[in-house]
Amino acid sequence: MLELRNIIKNYEVGDNRVEALRGVSLAFRPSEFVSILGPSGCGKTTLLNIIGGLDRYTSGDLIINEKSTKDFKDSDWDTYRNHSIGFVFQSYNLIPHQTVLSNVELALTLSGVSRHERRQRAKEALELVGLGDQLSKKPNQMSGGQMQRVAIARALVNDPDILLADEPTGALDSVTSVQIMEILKKVAQKRLVIMVTHNPELAEQYSTRIVKLRDGTVISDSAPFEATAVQGRDEPKKPIEKHKRSAKKDKKGKTDKERKSSMSFFTALTLSFNNLMTKRARTILTSFAGSIGIIGIALILAVSQGINGFIAQVQEDTLSAYPLSLQSKAQDMSAMLSAMTSVSDETDYTGTGKIYVDDSLGTMMQAMASTVDNNLEAFKKYLDANYDQIKDYVSDVQYTYDYDMHVFNSDGTVEVGMETLLENMGGAFSGLSEMAAMSGKMDVFSEMINNQTLLDQQYDVIAGDWPTEANEVVLVVNSNNSISKMALYMLGVLPH
Ligand code: ADP
Ligand code: MG
Repeated sequence: MLELRNIIKNYEVGDNRVEALRGVSLAFRPSEFVSILGPSGCGKTTLLNIIGGLDRYTSGDLIINEKSTKDFKDSDWDTYRNHSIGFVFQSYNLIPHQTVLSNVELALTLSGVSRHERRQRAKEALELVGLGDQLSKKPNQMSGGQMQRVAIARALVNDPDILLADEPTGALDSVTSVQIMEILKKVAQKRLVIMVTHNPELAEQYSTRIVKLRDGTVISDSAPFEATAVQGRDEPKKPIEKHKRSAKKDKKGKTDKERKSSMSFFTALTLSFNNLMTKRARTILTSFAGSIGIIGIALILAVSQGINGFIAQVQEDTLSAYPLSLQSKAQDMSAMLSAMTSVSDETDYTGTGKIYVDDSLGTMMQAMASTVDNNLEAFKKYLDANYDQIKDYVSDVQYTYDYDMHVFNSDGTVEVGMETLLENMGGAFSGLSEMAAMSGKMDVFSEMINNQTLLDQQYDVIAGDWPTEANEVVLVVNSNNSISKMALYMLGVLPH
């Protein structure tokens, strides 16, 4: 049922290779008590870990129930460890803040067994090791021997085929060691027990087979077993009661051994909650300390979110009143500024007998007159092609063309607008009309932005509706509900 074939295990440590096992071949009977003896460092623990699926072999093969483990997946190893193997460690590895019963029960939570059955089986296992009356003790209230018995109960509660024990009596006195050996001997009547020990006398006295290891190889075996021997003849007293139990099927018709290891969400939650409650004071303190940090961060985030929101709002408000505008010809402001700051020559020339010419004003004028050409055609192409990426950062993009809108009054006789108004005002203003015509910027008409959200944010409709057609107009008043009389003249609403 369990066979190792030429198992080699190497550990790579830096550039060094440690050959922990150098070709171990062993076969085990379904039930026997095997002791593994050998000096420290000869590979006993390594061997046990490989048998228990805690570690992987480098080469060779481990045969479990006539099946090679070469192609085992992680889930197969999980199932094997959880249902076929029980582990007992020298240092017990019990959970200190849980009772003896919960410690043993815990080993079953991964097997998907019902709560009631878990408790029942944990009690049975503890009775088997003689601790039936100590169920609610905590591990730290027990002696070493008692703790090791709890560990054995925990290893047995899953009803494993194989019990592995790594120096289970290593930390115990001789009297207690004997008690533990008695228990293991009893266990070995029904299953395979493989024990690593330092104590040859105990091994001689209790185990049915002694395997000696040295430097990663088997140097002697007191009762070798040929796995190829006819099954059944060599198989001693197969446990009837145990057979019955492991054949018990669950709702899905699977036996314990077939079922995958898993923990229900509820079990996991209960376990975590219990763990928290056992350390109540610490939990409360930790939560409190944690909350301070979290609340602090939340506050900072809230404030900065608020400020960010405010900034975004101001930005949006400002930009809708003063949008960024790019023109085909632009003044290079930075050149102008540097011209203004750099050229003024403050040097004192008195006493040189000469007069110098200061041209700083000329340089400045030159800078002001010089314009930069923007390639708006290419820029519009770019905007059109990438608008999907840009649209999150802008409220709207509008294009104006070098074209004046000609708007006439209702009987179509007078063109309205700044130009006409200035002309009609006469005097000094008529001269200005030329300028107004040239700039085209002083018009009362402007195109509406194409972003209804922004419009809704920035404007209230005080009469009528938002336009839906291209030939509709909107009369805009300022935030005090007033409009300049000039604008009414310019619009032709009032006669010039
Ligand atoms: P034993 O249990 O017989 O005392 P081990 O099986 O623990 O011996 O170790 C066998 C050899 O493998 C030792 O030389 C040890 O140093 C080495 N070894 C064990 N585990 C590791 C590891 N994780 N990494 C590197 N070397 C290891
Ligand atoms: Mg060891």
